[in-house]
Amino acid sequence: MAITLYNTLTRKKELLAPLDPNNVRMYVCGPTVYDYAHIGNARPVIVFDVLFRLLRQVYGPDHVTYARNITDVDDKINARAADEKISIRDLTERTTAQFHADIEALGVLPPTIEPRATHHIPEMRAICEELVKRGHAYIADGHVLFDVSSMADYGRLANRSLDEMEAGARIDIAPYKKGPMDFVLWKPSKAAEPSWPSPCGIGTEGRPGWHLECSAMSEKHLGRTFDIHGGGIDLVFPHHENELAQSRCAHGTSMMANIWMHNGFLQVEGEKMSKSLGNFITINELLATEKFGGQPWHGRVIRFAMLGTHYRSPIDWTVERLVQARATLADLADTLGGVAPSTSPHADVLAALQDDLNTPSAISIIHGLAKSARRGNGSTAAELKSALQFLGVYDNEKPDDFFVGAGGSQKVDTAEIARLIQARLDARKDRDFKEADRIRDDLASKGIQLKDGKDPKSGEVVTTWELRR
Ligand code: AMP
Ligand code: ZN
Repeated sequence: MAITLYNTLTRKKELLAPLDPNNVRMYVCGPTVYDYAHIGNARPVIVFDVLFRLLRQVYGPDHVTYARNITDVDDKINARAADEKISIRDLTERTTAQFHADIEALGVLPPTIEPRATHHIPEMRAICEELVKRGHAYIADGHVLFDVSSMADYGRLANRSLDEMEAGARIDIAPYKKGPMDFVLWKPSKAAEPSWPSPCGIGTEGRPGWHLECSAMSEKHLGRTFDIHGGGIDLVFPHHENELAQSRCAHGTSMMANIWMHNGFLQVEGEKMSKSLGNFITINELLATEKFGGQPWHGRVIRFAMLGTHYRSPIDWTVERLVQARATLADLADTLGGVAPSTSPHADVLAALQDDLNTPSAISIIHGLAKSARRGNGSTAAELKSALQFLGVYDNEKPDDFFVGAGGSQKVDTAEIARLIQARLDARKDRDFKEADRIRDDLASKGIQLKDGKDPKSGEVVTTWELRR
């Protein structure tokens, strides 16, 4: 079963030919954890979750490694922690727990590895030192800077020459830069900012630039070259261009990832949803409040609505889109209620996904299969149910369950669940097991079941939850 994917680097659809089919490797840039994620941030998380599921289906669940990082060192994090007068660690842990709770409600599987930037500082220093040694970076005024003129094909991913970029950029001209497009690998920290010993014998303490974080984490967990690198379209330049430059120049390789994939924007009235424009709605508000369309929305309805548009096209996020998604899911639930799923999803649905993740085509196939299932075709019904479960849009819900605000049975306040999970972990740390168990039982009485697992890398306890009725 062949998968074709559109590669931003070559600007065409390509056959995925894994470097090692026994270990297909994908890296996706994850959230910067300083605030609730908005529904635009959920788009790459959902899109690449579908790709992760497809890779597992095609290559086998044990033959795929998916790393999605947490950016837990960033100037926005420092500023927010100072505003709230809390520690950076408290802010990043709270926000990470919130992010996990939100995306779990959207049917997103945990990635194989979720590396955190602050756990990879020595690896970042090593890349700085290698780049200086190879003549691709220089030290100036406590910074380590990447010298873009040292890389012949800098700009290839963004599809622009250095001259074009220089002409078009509103460049922040720092006196210590040799070239206007040179970018920061490492920078000095002021007194209140997080800091680590700097590389290259700089002497003072500092912190990494954002791009460097992903180069270090992808190398550590996936190797110097891997198969797929993903994120939103806004990351092409400068973030991915710079990641690619750092990694290739530090390792002397001709590529970093074979295929670079980018999702289009989720928009509101034609404009990108973003924190800075203030036109955003958080995942949590959609799930748990009446802020969007006067009612809360079921996580699977949100997911299904998102997949109705091809990942490279923009989506306009409207109430109408959610209403339609909900009606379709309720109809499907009505048709498939008593049906046992088959062992593998319907082949036509898989074939649509194998063609550059064509989810709108998969959904129109689903409509056709549902018609046939309603006419009494049992094997189609079984394969359709399996396909919906595979896509993460349905799992035995009753039609009413999708109507959260109108008598449906699901009411999930993910913020509150995340807070209680943290309170329980804290109680256990303090050896207050009575309180920890009280929190667990209290949630269980509301149909929310906690599951404790271990992060395979750090050995830390990670708690997830699911709804039981
Ligand atoms: P950030 O936390 O801003 O770095 O964004 C996290 C991820 O969400 C990145 O992959 C972004 O490209 C993506 N993203 C941010 N805003 C949108 C949007 N409105 N539509 C689609 N993706 C977005
Ligand atoms: Zn990144």
